[in-house]
Amino acid sequence: MNVKKNGQLLSDTHYQLASLKRMTKQELIEEILGTHDWDYMLENGYVKIDPQACQGCGKPTNPNHPKYERGHFVNRTPADDGWLCGYCGGYECDECEKDIYVDCEVRIKYHGYNYHEECAIKMIQEKRLEECDIEWGMSEWALEEARKEDLE
Ligand SMILES: [Zn+2]
Ligand SMILES: [Zn+2]
Repeated sequence: MNVKKNGQLLSDTHYQLASLKRMTKQELIEEILGTHDWDYMLENGYVKIDPQACQGCGKPTNPNHPKYERGHFVNRTPADDGWLCGYCGGYECDECEKDIYVDCEVRIKYHGYNYHEECAIKMIQEKRLEECDIEWGMSEWALEEARKEDLE
């Protein structure tokens, strides 16, 4: 086999192919993937980033992807030249600072804050939030939970 390493014929060196000679295409690809880091392989065009992957968490937003999870596709939103999933495209909770799924936000009047339902329940119970200030998004269940503790 007339192969070259960095332009030099292998037959001009004192090396010969050993296990490389017997590797399947998959084994060769895995060997290359294991040898270089992602940045190097991206720069050299060995690999590319899935254009349908969420730009926030990297999870697939494409419903045809084998590892696709529903929550990451439903409510995905366009971002730069790709997508943000339903979690990353939402808001950050102003109480616990974790992501809020776009469907589940609770918005508070006057201040434009966003909270998880559980966080809003806690805040109502701790009297840091008035029920009447909730503008949108809190379920009846959550409101009842918040009132329950209130009575005890
Ligand atoms: Zn995401
Ligand atoms: Zn929260």
